[in-house]
Amino acid sequence: MSQEAMQEALARNVRSVQTRIAAAAERAGRNPSEVQIVAVSKTVEPARVIAAYNLGLNVFGENRVEEAEGKIPVVRAALAQQGREPPRWHMIGHLQSRKSGRAVELFDLIHAVDSVRLAERLSRQATEAGKRVPILLELNVSGEESKYGFPAALAGAIATQAPPLFAAVAEILALPGLDVRGLMTMAPIVPTAEEARPYFRRLREWRSALQDRFPVHGWPELSMGMTDDFEVAVEEGATMVRIGRAIFAYS
Ligand SMILES: *Cc1c(COP(=O)(O)O)cnc(C)c1O
Repeated sequence: MSQEAMQEALARNVRSVQTRIAAAAERAGRNPSEVQIVAVSKTVEPARVIAAYNLGLNVFGENRVEEAEGKIPVVRAALAQQGREPPRWHMIGHLQSRKSGRAVELFDLIHAVDSVRLAERLSRQATEAGKRVPILLELNVSGEESKYGFPAALAGAIATQAPPLFAAVAEILALPGLDVRGLMTMAPIVPTAEEARPYFRRLREWRSALQDRFPVHGWPELSMGMTDDFEVAVEEGATMVRIGRAIFAYS
């Protein structure tokens, strides 16, 4: 694909995603500006990240620390040369403990904190680096064993799941190096986007439960929805949608 054809396809994709988010937000009586696109740039090379940035996307999501370590400085240097601000970078994938220090250095938000142990480690490293790291807590709403996250299966009752989750959250909120911004989930793979709706709704219900139990923390963010289901996620209250293929795959 030529450079121009790539640029055009990318521009078309970005416009289409923005239009679909706006329509979904309107259906739900929401303001489209409440929904942040996290452009998932895993496997996407720096030149295409910069092309997407030039189209107005300014938050990129990576799911592997090694890949991000190679890419982030390259993008930053290229933009700095043009005198421009760098984009923000979110770690959206499962974070292994031994890579948490590098994640603290690289990322502006860590989406998938799924244990007290990982949270403690991130807090310690953030404190050592003299900062507070924004994080989201990942809930395993699908209940699938292949997925990470605090147990919160849709099949279970919130009443039985809440006490252990609240206990973990109380510990995490007490950590000095973290700024807990909200929740993240991965819906299961289902035949139609509509079938993902109950999982997104459940994440929103968990946020309400946490807001009631821990009111001072606000819990503004809900990171949910990907290429196959982001419109439904927006209808159910997503404030961040993590979109890879709909932006970076060309047809
Ligand atoms: C890859 C990935 C996405 C984006 O998936 P698409 O289906 O390409 O939009 C979102 N979230 C996470 C955690 C991912 O790893």
